[in-house]
Amino acid sequence: MSRKKIVAGNWKMNTSLTEASELVKRVVKEAGNAPVIKIFFPPFTFLKPVADELTSSNDFFMGAQNCSEHEKGAYTGEISASMISSVGGKYVLVGHSERRTYFKESNEQLTQKIQQALKNNLVPVFCFGEQLAERKSDKHFDTVMKQLTVLKNFPKEQVQNFVLAYEPVWAIGTGETATPQQAQEMHAYIRKTLSEMFDASLASGISILYGGSCNAQNAKELFSCADVDGGLIGGASLKAEDFCKIINSF
Ligand code: PEP
Repeated sequence: MSRKKIVAGNWKMNTSLTEASELVKRVVKEAGNAPVIKIFFPPFTFLKPVADELTSSNDFFMGAQNCSEHEKGAYTGEISASMISSVGGKYVLVGHSERRTYFKESNEQLTQKIQQALKNNLVPVFCFGEQLAERKSDKHFDTVMKQLTVLKNFPKEQVQNFVLAYEPVWAIGTGETATPQQAQEMHAYIRKTLSEMFDASLASGISILYGGSCNAQNAKELFSCADVDGGLIGGASLKAEDFCKIINSF
């Protein structure tokens, strides 16, 4: 089965409204023909303007960097999955390492966020990955296995439509990238784990992205790994030229 190729840009807490719309316009113009799913994850305030830029473009989608685990109500400052959906969002990041670290998001919360996403027709992009100390002490496979247990809370019919993003924490925003061998080894391990948790067809059909200092120079080699289906890109997704090169790296 051929898996979806995906390149997604996580802008984190960056850009102004003008920068956001210029960035999207350029990427749509310069990388619009690439036969790859392209997703922008702008800050909440720019979700609607970004979606508006994409209405007539093929294979471009907008998603949010987070959603509340609650449906609605007195949660000052939070944004619900239904709000994201109502402004044209199709995807939502769940479990990004910055949210796990700074906002102490637990597996229980992540499960609730995924439930909210699914109720509102958003595809969860479930992020996970080990810390440097865990890799150095050879615990990276165990860590990833534990993080993947969140998926057990959902039936196979739902999980097969998720997107997964393996992002070793030591590579995020550090300029230090996993080698293609390290990425491939972990992605193959993730598929083996999913095969045991669900079945072989889910494991071979689900898209698994690599994230962590992926850039215009190293994307080609990373994307050529058998089990890497694309990238979740932070810093390099803020530069139109670099992001377009990454999109064209398959
Ligand atoms: C990310 O935030 O998901 C990420 C991969 O960041 P960077 O590409 O900057 O390492």
